[in-house]
Formats: sequence, structure tokens, C-alpha cells
Amino acid sequence: MPDDNPNLSRHARHLALAQLGAGGQERIGTGTALLIGIGGIGCAAASHLAASGVGHLLLCDFDTVDVTNLGRQTLYGPDDIGKPKAQRAAAGLARLNPDIRITAITERLDDVALANAVHQANVVLDGSDNFATRFQVNDACVAASTCLISGAAIRLEGQLAEFGPDYDTSPCYRCLYKEADESLENCAGNGVLGPVPGTIGTIMAIEALKFLAGIESRRGVLRLFDALSGELRSVVVAKRDDCPACG
Ligand SMILES: [Zn+2]
Repeated sequence: MPDDNPNLSRHARHLALAQLGAGGQERIGTGTALLIGIGGIGCAAASHLAASGVGHLLLCDFDTVDVTNLGRQTLYGPDDIGKPKAQRAAAGLARLNPDIRITAITERLDDVALANAVHQANVVLDGSDNFATRFQVNDACVAASTCLISGAAIRLEGQLAEFGPDYDTSPCYRCLYKEADESLENCAGNGVLGPVPGTIGTIMAIEALKFLAGIESRRGVLRLFDALSGELRSVVVAKRDDCPACG
């Protein structure tokens, strides 16, 4: 069949969805997503956002590719070892979809630079591996009234939660975690099953696409994925009156 409009063809399965349609795909195409951390979670999320035609992806990671990343960070291969993740991810995503804009940010963002990046975005996906970054990203999203989708994975467990953009009513990440929770610290010393972060990143991409398209979703809910049992359960996050970020 002749392909008059490659973009229409690429998104044909989206356009056929009653919940999405041409209007929803149009909103996805004009949307901007900021991804913090392009590891196992970020690679999966970014791949689906790129393939789905999100108009502009901002990829933020100051790390370089290490051989121990290759088992789960699916945008990288052996040739990428030692090179900046954000840059190599941008190259891989441009191959997946050359029609979107991709910006690689390879330096560590201070509060001002992070606030600038968040202001450019409609939705922020945090797949970073440490609490200092998660709290910093949360505070920037609360200040800018930007939707935050935060995810983490370790061993055979993963979790994600979606907050905002109206933080007068929505809880935030600091309502969920007052301080660093050692059990969620990075997977380096704990191990992680390769596809678990990818599963979390994929669900985060679903939530981001729903948000951009204007599809109703439950926010302020923590979803816990147990890869051992294969179960996904939801827990409502209560908004804390004394929250230092959104209270
Ligand atoms: Zn809060």
C-alpha cells in the first residue's frame, strides 16, 4: 500500500484507539517529556515515548555506559562502553524515530538548570537511582506544577507513582518518602533482574502517554510490582499536611 503520510502510518494503531484517536496523538506529538536517568528504566521509557511520537524528549544522564549496564539498559551495546549515556541513548532513539526532537543533557543539573529543564517539559519521568536526585526532581516538579512519574527497581521488585500536576490536591514524592529508604537504594550492591526496570519504565511510558493525550488516570497512587509472583498492586498515597515540598 502506498505510504503518503509515514506519520499517520506509524501511529495507525494509536489512531484506531477510541481513547486516543487523532486528537490524543496530536497532543502526544506536541508534548515534551524530560527523562531523568537513562538506565534500565529510562531506556525502556524513552524507547516507547520515542516510538509513540512524543514531540520532544529531553534525556538527562551524566553517567557513561558501563559493561554491567548492558544486561538491562537496552539502548546500549558494547561499542557504547565509556561513552555518555544521554548521547548514546539519543542516537539510538533517533534511529527508532527520526521525526522527533531529542536533546541529550550530559552534565549533572544543579537546581537552576533542573528547574529550566522541568519548565520545558509537560511531564517528567524520574528513573534515577538515588534519593538525593529523586527529592531534587520532586521539588522542581512541585515548584513548576509539572506532572511527575517516579519509578524504581531493585532485585525482583519495582514500583512507580504518579504525582501532580496540581499539588494543591495531589501528594508528591516527599509525601511518600520522608527520607532515603535504604531498601530502595541503587541496584549495584543488591542485584536486579534485567527486565524488571524495563517493566517499570514501560508502565511509566504508558502513564506519560495517557497524561499527554489527556486520558484520565489515577494519580497519587503507588504501584508495586513483584516479579516473583507477577503481581501488580496499588496503594493510595496520602497527602501529608506537613510535607516540606507540597504541604
Ligand atoms: Zn508532598
